[in-house]
Amino acid sequence: MIEFNDVSKQYKDGTYAVKSFNAVINKGEFFVIIGPSGSGKTTTLKMINRLIELSGGTISINGQKISEYDIHELRWNIGYVLQQIALFPNMNIEENIAVVPELKKWNRETIKQRVNELLEMVGLDPEIYRERKPHELSGGQQQRIGVVRALAADPEMILMDEPFSALDPMTKVKLQDDMLDLQRRIQKTIVFVTHDIQEALKLGDRICIMNNGEIVQIGTPDDILYHPANDFVRDFVGVQEGITNEKMNLEDIVQQTEVAPSNPFETVSVTTSLQEILDKLTHHDQVFAERNGEMIGVINRQAFIQYLAEHVQKRGHMNE
Ligand code: ADP
Repeated sequence: MIEFNDVSKQYKDGTYAVKSFNAVINKGEFFVIIGPSGSGKTTTLKMINRLIELSGGTISINGQKISEYDIHELRWNIGYVLQQIALFPNMNIEENIAVVPELKKWNRETIKQRVNELLEMVGLDPEIYRERKPHELSGGQQQRIGVVRALAADPEMILMDEPFSALDPMTKVKLQDDMLDLQRRIQKTIVFVTHDIQEALKLGDRICIMNNGEIVQIGTPDDILYHPANDFVRDFVGVQEGITNEKMNLEDIVQQTEVAPSNPFETVSVTTSLQEILDKLTHHDQVFAERNGEMIGVINRQAFIQYLAEHVQKRGHMNE
């Protein structure tokens, strides 16, 4: 558990990069921090592993202030993944992954097993990849190594700073899917910075929206979409303008059901606008879907949010 208590960061020139940040990130939670450029996301992240010192307030991990931890122990026990994969170019993949286990003086055999296990976990055959140099891997493969390196010594939590933003769209989606799958299996506490609302909706258990160093809203994807705290959030999510104009066939997310529609359920056409479905789902957990007058199943709110996260383009991309 990570607890922020009135945390702030003020620079010498008077700029508040982060102001009165209060939040509790639960064990095993996928916590996404999102906001426009300069809103304080990276500063917040780097204060957790003390890459940036706080100027006010406290951050505690499992009930102990981060200032009371030995700084090396603290950093070794928190995995860290950056946008620009900082793999060591002259070291092979095995050596790159083994950096923290080596620092922790694990024995050779344990390290080797761990490297194999991690490479297999992200679908890279150890026999092929263990001895390659970073430049012999694609961008997506290098980023996978960046992720497993952060996991190498089995840290309880992982900080990720726009880890997928430099990747092409297809690789990005693949790594997001892998990340979700990985998280289901390993249940780490993940703090993930992004400026991409689709990514946030797809990955986050909760999303923290920041602006000008302050938290604007913390909530589940559902909260953010259906109960935006203010116009900033509404605009940031871009729901209104982004989806009003889009007409899509929603048959992919319609779930077959044997249950006959009954009041007070709403019915929508699968070819209607996303905005209309969104509006109806504001008041109902699910709506019935019909095609050409024939009832074909239900659309539930969760499936719809997932659909938005994956299909609606250009929403919430601030000027970065
Ligand atoms: P984000 O990650 O959301 O893009 P940052 O956390 O990097 O934002 O930065 C937050 C704010 O702090 C920005 O306005 C940035 O200009 C400012 N900032 C960052 N580093 C310094 C510094 N060394 N001195 C003064 N201001 C800084």
